[in-house]
Amino acid sequence: MSTRRKALLVTVSNRLPVTLRRGARGPERVRSSGGLVAAFEPMLEHRGGVWVGWPGLELRPGESLSEPDDLYQIKPVGITKSEVRGYYHGFSNRTLWPVFHTLPGRASFDMADWESYERVNQRFADVTANAIDPGDLVLVNDYHLMLAPAQLRHAAPTNPIGFFLHIPFPPYDVYRVLPWGRNLLRGVLGADLIGFHVSGYVRNFVDCVQQLLGARVDRRSGLVEHDGRTVRVAAFPLGIDFPHFESLARSAPEAGFSSDERVILGVDRLDYTKGIPERLTAFAHLLETHPEHRQRITFLQLAVPSRAEVTEYRKLKREIDELVGQINGRFSSATWTPIHYLYRSIPQDRLAALYRDADVALVTPLRDGMNLVAKEFVACQVDDPGVLVLSRMAGAAETMTEALLVNPYDVDDTAAKLHRALSMPLAERRSRMKQLRQREATSNVHAWARKLIARIREAAKDSNRERRWNTR
Ligand code: UDP
Repeated sequence: MSTRRKALLVTVSNRLPVTLRRGARGPERVRSSGGLVAAFEPMLEHRGGVWVGWPGLELRPGESLSEPDDLYQIKPVGITKSEVRGYYHGFSNRTLWPVFHTLPGRASFDMADWESYERVNQRFADVTANAIDPGDLVLVNDYHLMLAPAQLRHAAPTNPIGFFLHIPFPPYDVYRVLPWGRNLLRGVLGADLIGFHVSGYVRNFVDCVQQLLGARVDRRSGLVEHDGRTVRVAAFPLGIDFPHFESLARSAPEAGFSSDERVILGVDRLDYTKGIPERLTAFAHLLETHPEHRQRITFLQLAVPSRAEVTEYRKLKREIDELVGQINGRFSSATWTPIHYLYRSIPQDRLAALYRDADVALVTPLRDGMNLVAKEFVACQVDDPGVLVLSRMAGAAETMTEALLVNPYDVDDTAAKLHRALSMPLAERRSRMKQLRQREATSNVHAWARKLIARIREAAKDSNRERRWNTR
């Protein structure tokens, strides 16, 4: 580490904001757009900084991802094909993803995957350590990189380090099925501050460190003592780029729904945590129990292809295909098809038009860290307001209390709430939506990032003061 300039912000995440593709004309950069990019790119562009992550392909000798007019540095982490299988598809997506979403029956546990995860996390930590000076603030993101905070801490004893988990943290009784649960907790505890979406996940995490590591904890103040250090733990509910979605909704062309059609909209990655089969069944139940809706409503489900390399996901796709076929076969008439199912991703302006013109958003994950679709729908309600039907199992339900909240496993409950949403008077729709919109406009992604960064800096100051005191 050399001495230099003012402190930088360093974001570390599995994927970079750009992906490497090899086309006919050689390597090219493709920009990605997720929530993390919306949160940190404006900050990095404004203040300068570094983004550490995997570019999606291995760089060949002499190839670089950086371009001369980049406003911040991009530091790629190389991962081999076999590590992509072990660290990414294996341990991250086949082990941690289902366990953390409280679906441990779907998880597989493989020692080779774990070893690959450890090795790749160490590489992320090494690339980060080489990119920083003392004082630079590092934010490590998500379940792919739970060991990296402690691995980085060895090389960077005084740097402010934060860790944010973008998925749920499960209750102790579920978490303890993980053979490497203790190692993962020790890994994240290398940070000064650990952030989760909602307070329920903070409670679960604190339970786990107490039960599995025997750590001293202060639940009220969100403090954990570990390895002679005090680590702060808190909830930071992620928001969206509200003005961006709102302005897309104001300018996007019509979605193209016919004027006598009422539309229920589902938008998800095709993932078993999203409860798509349960939702389709609930919709069929609505048509069964409330035949007055037949011929009048359409359920448009957009499923974005995801993790098709994993067998579970391919099976789920077949299950959904069949269920859509069965329900349409049963209820369709010569002039009406109840379910329109799209298996693809669509551009954001078209998505904004769907959000804006739909009457109901049906967001019913079995478990979801936050769920940004619910928030994007709300931001796009710029005309006649629609109704949000939201799963209680989504982190978003902790704050979006004016939505109609449902238990996604309970098909009767979901069908009844759907009926209520379709029958809701304008005045009630307006008042619910007004409050939902106000909250999301204020607690947006930029406010989230500013607060998180400020709290990491404060937490590091406190721990460094404590450390100096203890070593006197
Ligand atoms: N989305 C997308 N392409 C699409 C449809 C949706 O990129 O065709 C985006 C959507 O705008 C949202 C994200 O995918 O920002 C889904 O985020 P969410 O938190 O709801 O679920 P996740 O996929 O992260 O589990």
